[in-house]
Order: sequence, then C-alpha cells, then structure tokens
Amino acid sequence: MGVSVALHAAARCDPLNEPVVLVERSHMGAGSSGRSGAIVHAAYSDRVLAGMARDSLKQYTHITTHTGRSVGYRRTGVLFLPGQSEEEQAGYQADLEMQSALGIDADEVGAEEIRGLVSGIEVPDDAVGIWQPDGGFLDPGRTIETFAKLARARGATTRAGVTEPHVIVKDSRVTGVETSQGYIEAEHVVLATGAWTRVLVGELGVEWPLRVLRTEEHFLEMPPIEPIEEEEMDLGGGHETRFLPDPLESLPVAHPVLIDRGNCFYLRCDPPRGRSRVGRLGFANLPELAGPLGPAEAATEEFSSWAREAVVTRMPVYGDLEDLGSNASHISVTPDGRGIVGQVPSIKGLWVVTGFSGLDYTLAPSIGEGLVQMIEGRPVAAFDPEFFSPKRFD
Ligand SMILES: Cc1cc2nc3c(=O)[nH]c(=O)nc-3n(C[C@H](O)[C@H](O)[C@H](O)COP(=O)(O)OP(=O)(O)OC[C@H]3O[C@@H](n4cnc5c(N)ncnc54)[C@H](O)[C@@H]3O)c2cc1C
Repeated sequence: MGVSVALHAAARCDPLNEPVVLVERSHMGAGSSGRSGAIVHAAYSDRVLAGMARDSLKQYTHITTHTGRSVGYRRTGVLFLPGQSEEEQAGYQADLEMQSALGIDADEVGAEEIRGLVSGIEVPDDAVGIWQPDGGFLDPGRTIETFAKLARARGATTRAGVTEPHVIVKDSRVTGVETSQGYIEAEHVVLATGAWTRVLVGELGVEWPLRVLRTEEHFLEMPPIEPIEEEEMDLGGGHETRFLPDPLESLPVAHPVLIDRGNCFYLRCDPPRGRSRVGRLGFANLPELAGPLGPAEAATEEFSSWAREAVVTRMPVYGDLEDLGSNASHISVTPDGRGIVGQVPSIKGLWVVTGFSGLDYTLAPSIGEGLVQMIEGRPVAAFDPEFFSPKRFD
C-alpha cells in the first residue's frame, strides 16, 4: 500500500517543491506484503471491490509495456468453486451478471470444462464453477520493488531502516515526521502501516475497530508439468529488451489458481520456488493477535495437516507430493471487511490506508490512485470514497 501511494503521489508532485518521501521502519516488504499469496482477480460479489479490482488488474497487465518493469503477474486464470449452501448457489449467478455489467470477464463453467482447465481435479458431474481468465497472481517481492523503483523514477525518495518514526501533530494538524535520520516536514502524512496502524493511531487518540488476525499458508511441492516444446518458448526475438517476458511471468505452472469455497481453501502455484501455496478462506476462525507477527513464523501442525487434506480431496495428485514448509503472518481487518482510506477526522493532514482484510494486492493500485485524488481535493474517480471512509466508525 505504501509503495502504491508513493508511486501515485510522485506522479502528481513536483520533486523539488512537494517531494514525496516514503519512510520504512525496516525493509520494503517487511510486513505481511512480503509473505502474501498475492492472488489477484476481479470476481468479487461487492460491486465497488469488483470495479476496483478490474482497474487494478489493468494496471498490473500493462505495467511492463508502459514502464518496462514487471510485477511478475502470472495470468493463470482463477477457478472458483462455490460452496453448496443455497445462499452461495443463488449468489454467484447475480455476481456474474454484475461483473459482466462492469466489463469483467468471468464465465460459468461445467464439470467437463473444469476438468479441462485444471488437470487432475475431482468434481462431481453436476459441478459448476466460475472461471476468470484474467486472474492469477503477482510476485509479491517483485511488485513492491517495481512500485518503489517507479516511485523513485518519478522523483520520490524511499528511506528504509528508519527507526522510531513519529508523526508530529500541532493544533490538530500534521506538521511532519520525526525520524532517526532527522525531521521531515510534511503537510500530509499517510500511514500505510498495515497491522501496526491500530497502535500508531491509538497513540494519537484515535480508536478504530481494527483487528490483527493470524493467517497461515502451507507449502506443497508443485505437481510436475508437461515439458514445453522449444518452438513454443519463443521469447520474442527482435523486440526491445525491455519488452522481453520476465521469467517470473513465463515460468510454467501446474494449474490455474483454485478458490474452493466448499472446502474453504485457496491454492496457487509458486513456480520460482517449485511449490504450491495453500491457505484457508474466510476470517471466522482466525485467531486474533495482540500485534503483528515477527518474520519467519511457521504455521501450526494442525493447520498444515488440514491444508494438505483439503487440497488432496480436490486434487489427489498432491497426495504423493512433499510438504515444503509453511508460513504464518497476519492481516489487518475491520468489522465490515472493508479497508479504511481517508483522513483521520480529528487530525488535518493525517491519512490512513489499512484494514483491507486480505485484498491488498488486488486493490493497491486503485487505493494509491484514489487516495492521492483525495489528498489533492480532486473528485475521487478510483473508488467510492464513502465505501472506505473512517467516519463509519465514529
Ligand atoms: C498469508 C497471506 C496471504 C495473503 N494473500 C493475499 C492475496 O492472495 N491477495 C491479496 O490481495 N492480498 C493477500 N494478503 C493480504 C496482503 O498481502 C497483506 O495483508 C497486505 O499486503 C498488507 O499490506 P500493507 O502495505 O497494508 O501492510 P504491510 O505489508 O504489513 O506493510 C506495512 C509496512 O509498514 C512498516 N511500518 C510499520 N510501522 C511503521 C512506522 N512507524 N514507520 C515506518 N514504517 C512502519 C512495516 O515495517 C511494513 O513494511 C495475504 C496476506 C497474508 C498474510
């Protein structure tokens, strides 16, 4: 979120008169963004989120041709398998209509098509799924690095390893940020501090119902892939080097992203590491944490065995593949599952973007764009500002 805001702000600001400075306490990607599954798609049930995700996908799709840099966007397609509850079965039809009206490419598919899309999947003959061909996943580290580089290319400064940054507020107005590397005077300060935000705004007397939840992923060996014929691997000879495909965007995957609502898991290949990542859908059973988790935490054994079992039920091929470790991290959530984007009502010039409940990569380009429109006092075209307004928690 921070690098997206910096990127969009730098595009609008004069680097000499209105410099954009991104201050990171640790290193870029030190928070949950560095440990994310980074699945992106636009097949949401909520109209606002679906429209934003659609626009973000466009930005991710075109970033290489527009800038020469890649975010490792692997458009594998995303297959959704709705749960069996009456509500879900009725809901997906209405979702498809809404998504189609927004120009999102998503189609209903039957059992035969599902088996053709995901080799080795087990579904009953009356199964239905939703196929979104534009969805896939990003390389999280590459995305953060690319956004930061583009922000710098537009004149922003990024400073990592800045300890103890403190927002300075005088007479209910932000004046700057005090850091270990000196004072940064600022008319506007944006807190894109993920799960750390609750404490930071709390110190300024703001109480928002932000919660930090523990999330886990288990890693399984990626199933073997049919070798690609050499003539299919043409890397576009004769093109400018900057338009050659990034290996992160062209490494083969064993199958598309699978979002199985009935069995409550998501599964996506992670080809650079030869593994697949499995996570649990929904927040209902996630344990609440007092604060963000440190790096290199593993998932519980209970989670790992649940993840393996859930995946093998749908994709038996994983039954013969090795466990390749796990990861625990955190997400920041609000009671209604929407993020917070806007100015802290009691402090002029202090802005916040957080609490996106696990949709952060999907929404980051739109959030960065819209927040900058808000700060400049322009009409917000990137999303409906009321939807994310912190005022709903007054
Ligand atoms: C396992 C897992 C899977 C996920 N899967 C997906 C997915 O498939 N799709 C998706 O869209 N999202 C997904 N998410 C959600 C998402 O990736 C993250 O929650 C999101 O990236 C958070 O972004 P952020 O920038 O708000 O926070 P963070 O990435 O946590 O960044 C906050 C940064 O602020 C810094 N910081 C904190 N305090 C200060 C301070 N005082 N001064 C300066 N810097 C400070 C931290 O060091 C950190 O680098 C997933 C998350 C997890 C954990």
